[in-house]
Amino acid sequence: MQHFPIFLAVAGRRIVVSGGGDAAMAKLRLLMKTEAHLTVIASEIAPDIQKWAAQDKLTIINRAMEPGDTLCAALFYAANEDDVEDARVSAIANAEGALVNIVDNLADSQFITPAIVDRDPVTVAIGTEGAAPVLARAIKADLEERLPTSLGILARIGKTFRHAADVLPMGRKRRDFWSAFYFNTGPKAIEDAGENGVIPALETLLDTHIMTKAREGHVDLVGAGPGDPELLTLKARNALDTADVVIHDRLVTPEILELARREAIIIDAGKTGFGPSMKQEDIDALIVQHAQDGHHVVRLKAGDPTVFGRLDEEIEALENAGISYRIIPGITAASAAVANIGQSLTKRQRNSSVRLITGHDTKGYADHDWRALARAGEVAAIYMGKKSARFIQGRLLMHGADPATPVTIIENVSRPDQRIIATTLAEMEPTMTNANLTGPAITFYGLAPRDAQANALKLREFA
Ligand code: SAH
Repeated sequence: MQHFPIFLAVAGRRIVVSGGGDAAMAKLRLLMKTEAHLTVIASEIAPDIQKWAAQDKLTIINRAMEPGDTLCAALFYAANEDDVEDARVSAIANAEGALVNIVDNLADSQFITPAIVDRDPVTVAIGTEGAAPVLARAIKADLEERLPTSLGILARIGKTFRHAADVLPMGRKRRDFWSAFYFNTGPKAIEDAGENGVIPALETLLDTHIMTKAREGHVDLVGAGPGDPELLTLKARNALDTADVVIHDRLVTPEILELARREAIIIDAGKTGFGPSMKQEDIDALIVQHAQDGHHVVRLKAGDPTVFGRLDEEIEALENAGISYRIIPGITAASAAVANIGQSLTKRQRNSSVRLITGHDTKGYADHDWRALARAGEVAAIYMGKKSARFIQGRLLMHGADPATPVTIIENVSRPDQRIIATTLAEMEPTMTNANLTGPAITFYGLAPRDAQANALKLREFA
């Protein structure tokens, strides 16, 4: 180890930065998180730094650095982005006893600034001795994702509660209590009631743990997005991370199921559109049963659980059974698909509303306000519209829709095998059948991909 990590007490002490440009600004952004007195010395000062000075976040000395400028400084940064000037000012700071860092010059620096994950008072510093900044960034990103943003507040409040928690026997019981606080009850209390909600939540949690009540189950109704794991929300990831049981739809991709806690039981509640299916009541019963066993159940649904997800039936079952639940939204197929054709769902002077419609419902092909949809400029995202394509096409034409209205079919949205098929209402069938769609597909009525040329090519391919 060539660099020894420490946390330096800087509150009330001086830190001096020589330089007034981008490099100085990058360091200042970090330094302003501390309670140190910051001084910036440079003959040219960027407007942002001047703004910070006006906000009393730092002091500016508007000239080149001179001997005496770094007296009593704990740390010194040479950030002039000019080797000669950096060497000159570093020599001054060095002589005056400050620890010196020269930006982008590891060899001549006495200390280096780590990548920081800031959940003050919890601070994680990541260093690679300059060897692999990419790795440091990746580790930082990973930790940023794992540590709830409210962790700092929780740590501060948790500290004041330590003695109270000592009533729990040391070891497992106390650890379980704190782990439940930091990763579950605490973040939830902040979300529900803000900082003031934390102490009451801690008290309740402690009571529960003292009474060693059997664990209560809980259900997260989670949107898995269209398939790409990167389109999951952090909340969804965290829920998967702690799940005991994951009950998922057929459309949820293996890459996303991979993210579930290793010990979690994974149950496929897949329902194939027209094929054999697990009855909704059976799924409801399954979710309730696992929650009643005291498990944290993640009910994972493709896209957003509130869009054609039969969510309300599941909520009703949970409410009837008195089980706590939370809805975690996801990116619905229409949102992801429209992004991938470079369009907007709504657009000034084209359509001020958009419909999400389904091709079929429990009674068969779904009926809609065809006359309204047939008007020029209307946009609809058609879910579950493969089998009903001819029906929808027929209804719209019958109600006077322009046969040249653009129609775009997007299969396997956000997945490696995504396909975009641009056509028109007149050609919607047989284009759809000829395309041999095997994955989930969403159809935009009234939208063409932004790239018209690619569009024309695809038309030829599938005509
Ligand atoms: N709750 C989901 C929709 C469930 S209904 C959501 O918000 O996206 C199932 C329909 O959603 C499919 O028939 C298809 O039309 C659409 N769909 C879901 N995932 C899709 C994907 N990755 N690509 C294209 N369409 C998708």
